[in-house]
Amino acid sequence: METYCSHCGTLLPDSVNFCSKCGAPKTFESKPPQPAIKHSWAWVLLPLFFSFIGGIIAYFALKEDNRKTANQYLILGIIMSVIGFIIMIVSIAYFGASMRHVYGQ
Ligand SMILES: [Zn+2]
Repeated sequence: METYCSHCGTLLPDSVNFCSKCGAPKTFESKPPQPAIKHSWAWVLLPLFFSFIGGIIAYFALKEDNRKTANQYLILGIIMSVIGFIIMIVSIAYFGASMRHVYGQ
């Protein structure tokens, strides 16, 4: 019986226990799953440029089609907002130090 990888949809021969393409353990699916990647990669730009807000938008746009990717984009948005926050703190600390250097004593 031919089976398809439940993770990436690759047709797997009987002799293997793991997907040759993505390495996922073989499961017994008798027909190909829905293609996992049917969203546009451009959604990743939302969390990258709009951090948390973009991540939420991408999450709600994708969660019906691909919950896993939606979660990843939401997490990416959170990470980007944290990075932005750290950059802001560092900038304030840096410019604050510069100000003290200029106006200090
Ligand atoms: Zn696979």
